Amino acid sequence: MAGRVDLDGSPIKPITICMIGAGGFIGSHLCEKLMSETEHKVLAVDVYNDKIKHLLEPESLPWAGRIQFHRLNIKNDSRLEGLIKMADLTINLAAICTPADYNTRPLDTIYSNFIDALPVVKYCSENSKRLIHFSTCEVYGKTIGSFLPKDSPLRQDPAYYVLKEDESPCIFGAIEKQRWSYACAKQLIERLIYAEGAENGLEFTIVRPFNWIGPRMDFIPGIDGPSEGVPRVLACFSNNLLRREPLKLVDGGQSQRTFIYIKDAIEAVQLMIENPARANGHIFNVGNPNNEVTVRQLAEMMTQVYSKVSGEAPLEKPTVDVSSQEFYGVGYDDSDKRIPDMTIINKQLGWNPKTSLWDLLDSTLTYQHRTYAEAIKKAISQPLAS
Ligand code: NAD
Ligand code: UDP
Repeated sequence: MAGRVDLDGSPIKPITICMIGAGGFIGSHLCEKLMSETEHKVLAVDVYNDKIKHLLEPESLPWAGRIQFHRLNIKNDSRLEGLIKMADLTINLAAICTPADYNTRPLDTIYSNFIDALPVVKYCSENSKRLIHFSTCEVYGKTIGSFLPKDSPLRQDPAYYVLKEDESPCIFGAIEKQRWSYACAKQLIERLIYAEGAENGLEFTIVRPFNWIGPRMDFIPGIDGPSEGVPRVLACFSNNLLRREPLKLVDGGQSQRTFIYIKDAIEAVQLMIENPARANGHIFNVGNPNNEVTVRQLAEMMTQVYSKVSGEAPLEKPTVDVSSQEFYGVGYDDSDKRIPDMTIINKQLGWNPKTSLWDLLDSTLTYQHRTYAEAIKKAISQPLAS
């Protein structure tokens, strides 16, 4: 650990990081990396800490003293400014970020992603503290190509679908398509942060994650989350596989996504943390353009991988089609295709993703099986409470 240098060969000095949303999926992996491979200190802020419990206890852990958990809700807690002042860098991950919420809880979604982030930006700006803010690839919305006729050869031209931080427009659906409440709130907070940089000199980096997936993502309904809850696709499909139910393909599973292994993505974040001169003032796509699939192909691959991991043969009919209205309710809409352009992150940080989709599903589904298979069996065998 000692003697680590940044990308320009200068020694890396340990810093204190105020990490808001540290108890979530990305936060838990980032804390793990910072504890095991660096000497930085983390003030971990969240309303939950289940996903980082293994880093907080017991006190004999080698990094004890370098991570401190602060249970607070950033909506209404005056301790937030003090924590930001104590740190050299603030990383804001806190958000409502599950698509099932965007059209059913649009007010909570907008408040969480825009209003609640305002004080964080303000305290960083007023106290001259650096900020790494987590936005989303959804700020791009739909691709330009999606508006072309289905048989147009231009749809094959990357100019019509590759998403570039400094060039691509943000294309959202009508206001009644409340799906876009999240993307729109994230876009406005990005613009505000950018403006704070331009007018008041805020040192910022904005991260746009493209479907980061891996262990500890979301929850399995009825096991460590609400039975009626709808998590993101990895957890939905894992839940179906664990319960031996067909995987539900929303509107035929035709949407395309690029999936990146959380551990690859966290390496990009570490580079941003430790190379401020290269990261400040930039917006970075972080994804894996080589791992593109339709949601249907994802379902097929997860079925194959899970069969290998669990030793159980796949169902005869492993998938079933459902309409988006039935699955998500009114106001749902979808991003058609998400391929990140990697030029900027490559040039600034020399970073590239490594893990193939098969390999990342193999390690993730091994984790899901090990963590949940027994609990699911128990839950299924128990009669329903009357
Ligand atoms: P997550 O839901 O697992 O983590 C978010 C954490 O923030 C949770 O632990 C939650 O308890 C906490 N939080 C929310 N509101 C809070 C509040 N008011 N006070 C204190 N804590 C609060 O989500 P994640 O996947 O880890 O995502 C982190 C960030 O990355 C989010 O901003 C999300 O929009 C963005 N993002 C993630 C992905 C992805 O692929 N995982 C994709 C696009 C964007
Ligand atoms: N999806 C699906 N079945 C599910 C859950 C999600 O077909 O059980 C689809 C969803 O409609 C979207 C894609 O999978 O097209 C990815 O969904 P996710 O919730 O991961 O978030 P998104 O990538 O849209 O932000």
